[in-house]
Amino acid sequence: MKQIAQILFPVSVPEPFDYVVPPSMKLGLGDFVYAPIGKQVKLGVVWGVRNAKQKDEERSLKFVAERKLCRPLNPGMLKFVDWTAKYNCALQGQVLRMVIRSYKALDPSPLATFFRKTDVERPAGLSAARKRVLNVQGIWPARASEIAKAANVSASVVRTMAGVSGLLEQFSAPLDPPFDIPNPVHDGRQFALTDKQKQAGALLAELVRQNEFSISLLDGVTGSGKTEVYLEAAIQALKQGGQVLILVPEIALTQAGLKRFRQAFGAEPAQWHSNMGEAARRRVWRECAAGRAKLVIGARSALYLPFADLQLIVVDEEHDTSYKQDEGVIYNARDMAVVRAKFAGASIVLASATPTLESLTNARTGRYEHLILPERPGAAVLPKIDLVDLKEHKPESGKFLSQPLIDAVTDALSRDEQAMLYLNRRGYAPLIICRACGERLKSPDTDSWLVEHRRTGRAMCHLTGFSMPMPSACPECKTEHALHPVGPGVERVAEEAMALFPDANIEVLSSDTAQNPERIRHLMEKMAAGEIDILVGTQMVVKGHNFPHLTFVGVVDGDLGLAGGDLRAGERTYQTLVQVAGRAGRADKPGHALIQTHMPEHEALQALAEGDREGFIGAELAMRELLGLPPYGKLAAVIISAPDGRKADEFARKFLAKAPRTEGIEIMGPSEAPIAILRGRHRRRFLIKAEPNVNLSSYMQVWKSRIRPPNKTKLQIDIDPQGFM
Ligand code: ADP
Repeated sequence: MKQIAQILFPVSVPEPFDYVVPPSMKLGLGDFVYAPIGKQVKLGVVWGVRNAKQKDEERSLKFVAERKLCRPLNPGMLKFVDWTAKYNCALQGQVLRMVIRSYKALDPSPLATFFRKTDVERPAGLSAARKRVLNVQGIWPARASEIAKAANVSASVVRTMAGVSGLLEQFSAPLDPPFDIPNPVHDGRQFALTDKQKQAGALLAELVRQNEFSISLLDGVTGSGKTEVYLEAAIQALKQGGQVLILVPEIALTQAGLKRFRQAFGAEPAQWHSNMGEAARRRVWRECAAGRAKLVIGARSALYLPFADLQLIVVDEEHDTSYKQDEGVIYNARDMAVVRAKFAGASIVLASATPTLESLTNARTGRYEHLILPERPGAAVLPKIDLVDLKEHKPESGKFLSQPLIDAVTDALSRDEQAMLYLNRRGYAPLIICRACGERLKSPDTDSWLVEHRRTGRAMCHLTGFSMPMPSACPECKTEHALHPVGPGVERVAEEAMALFPDANIEVLSSDTAQNPERIRHLMEKMAAGEIDILVGTQMVVKGHNFPHLTFVGVVDGDLGLAGGDLRAGERTYQTLVQVAGRAGRADKPGHALIQTHMPEHEALQALAEGDREGFIGAELAMRELLGLPPYGKLAAVIISAPDGRKADEFARKFLAKAPRTEGIEIMGPSEAPIAILRGRHRRRFLIKAEPNVNLSSYMQVWKSRIRPPNKTKLQIDIDPQGFM
């Protein structure tokens, strides 16, 4: 019987295409095959196989060219690709592309030549170069180039040493070695778990032991030891021989976390993030598919690795906005992780000190297991948070630190403790204005102001990355030296702190100052060792660090996140400030946080000062319920963009006219997007609100399928949007 295979290609195609299976070929779901598409033969994946029907005979179907000899993708993965595409209104092929990042990873690791030392005695008169080779420590066995680099000799010296002299021995082995196997009974913990931690850990481990889909929310205050608790679940999964994926918001920032895993299991976990080289990526991919990479710590895209036997996913800091991918396939890794776990029959743990209202609601209605860690272990207490009303305590003109903040830093330093100043703004000043003509420096092709970066002497657009040398004269009126910085960025706050505390060691941490993970690690270590007195930082300082000597946190602008029309502004501000304040105080040193604000009466800030999380959540949820917003309703956004405004408007109107009529849907827009021009494209937005029982994804799919944007006009759908730019 003739068979038809549906082949999905990892390119921008909406669905699999049909091909005839040659009689001699046996194909199964998930197999990799080559098949002709257009004028090329491309690698695709078998998405289905069925017997040919009468009407297939009338179609001129092409044949599958060849089956590739490699491990197939497992059925759970295929379902996950389908689901991701459908839910997020993305092309199936585009999602498959996220899975298949490197074709070479499908082949076994190539072999390479390695060298190791032998027992042969060093002959007298050994050359200095050869001696240096034999003295290299800690890298054996290694490749000739690596040894040569470490010994500062040429690679040919290394190679000849494996010749007659027998000083080295050469052998061939896979170029990409497997990862060390984590040892689940290694137990490098240097303290005993508290009773609450034990209980929560045991429950998570039990869920993993049951080896079926389960969701838990690990809701524990900052510093309560959530990592220790979910490690118990990881131990159980590893004991069962399964694979564990730990998703973290920013892998460059989790050095301390990585160390914790190394200690726990006596092995280096596999890491996955977007800045990895091609070879490292291939290695992780291949080892995941083979089921040999047992513990992977990764950024959001690690969800699309082809795990063979995934038994546990942890989403650490589940509230973090960086789980949302907003380019290409737009998806929220937190939500997709739940689906991935479901198709893999695995346990998933969402961990946070400030869970999203969506997750909290799911936990409270019993859809998720809810584990609560209300306190820090031992004598450690949560930091005390106070507000500083800037109307009352006005900083001097052109300055940004109020007297109470300055006093608190002085206090901390006098006790030989550390302070942190938090401001989520990179650079020196967010606005550059001409004192002569009032002109503001604007990005050339985008609706945003240029930010002064004094350290690099440039003016930058933070949305697009455009930058230019800081001009000496106003580009508009040409007056020299009239450009003036307005408002603070971290560089300016650091400058102010340096003037106030000339003897203090002050460092700045933002994504500019810490372009490379090495530099971040260095700063983090210095901070942990107490070598920095004041750390001034953006969002980057918030994520999960523990600094034992940090006792004071000053928030320079508590209102920053509250501006703009984002429905989650209050929730975000609350989350960020709890997290940032949570950096202060550990064990024997209580922490204190001060938040400077012009709106001390705002309910998010009030809740912080009063430690009234419940009150805040209650008020937020009541507001969302009233307005039918998530978690009581669903949202989608549409962004239409075109090279000129008229075209964008025209298509937005046509698109609106095609909206399917359905109960329970409310369409707002089109309107100009808050960032009306981005990289030269004019943007219009819709916001679509749906009642909980509406399948919003399929509604949007149908709507989208009714009209094609003209050339150069783009239509983007964002299910459950997180930002409103
Ligand atoms: P969280 O993720 O909840 O903020 P972590 O897991 O990072 O907390 O733990 C915070 C700090 O407390 C870490 O330095 C950790 O080693 C320490 N810690 C956790 N549990 C205990 C315990 N039972 N006894 C002593 N120290 C602990």
